[in-house]
Amino acid sequence: MNIPVNDLHRVNLPFQVELEKKALEVIRSGWFVLGKEVELFEQEFAAKLEIPYCIGIDNGLNAIKLGCQALGIGVGDEVIMQANTYIATVLGVTWNGATPIFVEPNDFYNIDAGLLKLKITSKTKAVLVTHLYGQTSEMDSVVEFCKENNLFLLEDCAQSHFSKYNGQYSGTFGDLGFFSFYPTKNLGALGDAGCVVTKNEHTATLLKMLRNYGSRVRYQNLVAGHNARLDEIQAAFLRIKLTHMDAINQERNSIAERYNAEITNPRISKPKIADKATHVWHLYVVQVEEQERFRTYLKVNGIQSDVHYPTPPHLSEAYKHLGYHVGDFPITEKFSHSIVSIPIYNGMQNVEIDYVIKVMNEYE
Ligand SMILES: *Cc1c(COP(=O)(O)O)cnc(C)c1O
Repeated sequence: MNIPVNDLHRVNLPFQVELEKKALEVIRSGWFVLGKEVELFEQEFAAKLEIPYCIGIDNGLNAIKLGCQALGIGVGDEVIMQANTYIATVLGVTWNGATPIFVEPNDFYNIDAGLLKLKITSKTKAVLVTHLYGQTSEMDSVVEFCKENNLFLLEDCAQSHFSKYNGQYSGTFGDLGFFSFYPTKNLGALGDAGCVVTKNEHTATLLKMLRNYGSRVRYQNLVAGHNARLDEIQAAFLRIKLTHMDAINQERNSIAERYNAEITNPRISKPKIADKATHVWHLYVVQVEEQERFRTYLKVNGIQSDVHYPTPPHLSEAYKHLGYHVGDFPITEKFSHSIVSIPIYNGMQNVEIDYVIKVMNEYE
């Protein structure tokens, strides 16, 4: 049997007819940028997330980048984030000239809130949490820390669409929530797409300007903005998939529940879920002692796997100038050598899930 780590054809197959019909509608409308589809998607996404404002952006990285800019986070400012996040989280901050300050993750792969107090300085402007792999971070301590220290709270929700902490959706705890709708995400467009969500009307208005050359009224440019608009056709596709969001997450959850219950090999550590948190299983990440040997074993047995991520940002070539070395974040670095993402995707068949479980349990 050959099992991919993800299969976008199968992910979108249940919506194919609706998507094709919508594509024709948008093509025939003759309106492609900032029209009714973007506006309706923004309203529908915000309503489902139970937050007042959503601003469509062309991708997740730009959502973070413009979001930080809207809050005035820039040169001389520090933003605390977890060291094991995806590099886009870091890029969104450094493109504004601000400095990322890394902390180690906890057992749930999310930010270790207890370490925040060790990293705060007079330059700290914000805490940026990533709800990694789909599980919402332990938000009560992070919210409290940001309130006490008068810091912005930012959430990278690119992997956590509609996951919750204490009954509240990720992305709605702080000042800004950043989403990506890259095709592999739980809510995936058929190309690049993203958004920012906020409770603040002023910030929402500013973001609408920033994505469109700094202009709200044509040819009146109030700030130096970007071209970072969400396309009509992607918004139209996202509106369709948003109506199926609960079923999409439910299907991923039922695959994860089988893995949780039926993978029983003591050599494989399964993901843990914190009290009060929910997981939407963007990725199913296990830990093993010998990552390379385990991945080769899977490959020989026809199972694809991945590592999210093999090089932590502090050790990447792009951030050499920050001056970090191997050993600076031992927990993060250990994770990067022991984590393995196994197949989980919408459309995965029961025989495939059975097979993955069997192969996992036979690993010695
Ligand atoms: C995917 C992702 C992003 C970036 O989103 P793009 O739309 O690909 O730019 C940012 N942060 C995290 C955690 C992601 O997984």
